[in-house]
Amino acid sequence: MTDPEDLAERVREGDLRLHELEEHADHDTAAEARRLLIERETGTELEAIGDYAFPAEQADPNVENMIGAAQVPMGVVGPVPVNGEETGSADGGAATGEYYLPLATTEGALLASVNRGLGVLRSAGGAEARVTKNGMTRAPVFRVEGVAAAAETVEWVEDNLETLREAAESTTSHGELLDIEPYVVGDSVFLRFAFDTKDAMGMNMATIATGEACEVVEAETPASLVALSGNLCSDKKPAAINAVEGRGRSVTADAVIPGELVEERLHTTADAIAEANTRKNLIGSAKAGSLGFNAHAANVVGAAFLATGQDEAQVVEAANTITTMDAREREDSTTDLYASVSLASLEVGTVGGGTKLPTQAEALEILGLRGGGDPSGSNADALAEIIAVGALAGELSLLGALSSRHLASAHEDLGR
Ligand code: NAP
Repeated sequence: MTDPEDLAERVREGDLRLHELEEHADHDTAAEARRLLIERETGTELEAIGDYAFPAEQADPNVENMIGAAQVPMGVVGPVPVNGEETGSADGGAATGEYYLPLATTEGALLASVNRGLGVLRSAGGAEARVTKNGMTRAPVFRVEGVAAAAETVEWVEDNLETLREAAESTTSHGELLDIEPYVVGDSVFLRFAFDTKDAMGMNMATIATGEACEVVEAETPASLVALSGNLCSDKKPAAINAVEGRGRSVTADAVIPGELVEERLHTTADAIAEANTRKNLIGSAKAGSLGFNAHAANVVGAAFLATGQDEAQVVEAANTITTMDAREREDSTTDLYASVSLASLEVGTVGGGTKLPTQAEALEILGLRGGGDPSGSNADALAEIIAVGALAGELSLLGALSSRHLASAHEDLGR
């Protein structure tokens, strides 16, 4: 067996490079050798980083130069009550029933807050959630001579969608090309491809498929490909196009909370929550020039992403949420609270990427959503709907706390 000390020494002497260790030892030994090297070079003990619970080989597609694992505490909230209907019905959601949602975070009080909101939603009879749009996008940028060539390119693309679909779909057995939206800026042409990537978040799938279609575009039009991603996609950058057009899953969750429950459980009123939402989430966000109009949807989205193996950099757009809270008067003049969240571009998958890693796969297993769904795409739809209901619970709880002015004391009680 290869000695990690020996490997570390060879890297230090310049005989081997840091990324070449797996060629000379198994993955765990290679990681140990890197830790030894880093420990010596930096004088840091890496005991906790090296104490990970899965074979390093399983993380090979997900990381290079592995030294161990960042262990983020994980808890569960729930049950999350989702009132879907059976998949396949005309307006049914993919998620139906009660789910424990794993969340990984370092923010104390987050799970307690989301759980409080979920308790209110359960007492109110649950929340509805629906994926209303689905399309993972990739937008390559092409160079053309000028406007005439740009128009010629766009016209050809619009007239030959079937040819491009055939090329794109030849690279995948699951992905389906939904649409190509052209944009022209001077001598740059952008083609925003949108794919149904089923249960995969789909960024690799869409990129490979788009690459194949780009070869046809280059062969048939005056356009030359400059970059397979031209940033109009838009991946991992805050961008209005995702908020307007959607990316990944566009998902909405809502519930009506009886006025009595708002008073008993949130110690406030529907009118007070509605006012807090309008002044803070709508007016305050507008004044700030914010892309998201919500209280803290990124908290639930980010923690769910870490727990279930999503691409955490996509929280940038995945958390793009509009929260609405309205007082609704009943016939007996009691005022109920209508609450909703709409996440425009929630990119999630239950296959591929980080979802295969052992802890993340277990977290998906808790939800009953590990792997491909039947029909394909239903597991990722269900995950999107459950995260949306989690985000709704977080919004309810925080807005309730703000409008009953006990936010500070909650943090004090939990010692944070
Ligand atoms: P992936 O791990 O590259 O591929 C997942 C594959 O699973 C699909 O291509 C599909 O194969 C297969 N599959 C099996 N059952 C499926 C089902 N029920 N539904 C859908 N697919 C199924 O994952 P990805 O989701 O395409 O990409 C995610 C990864 O891309 C993450 O690791 C992320 O960090 C990374 N990423 C890449 C880029 C980029 O530009 N390339 C950008 C951002 C993030 P078939 O296609 O053969 O059907």
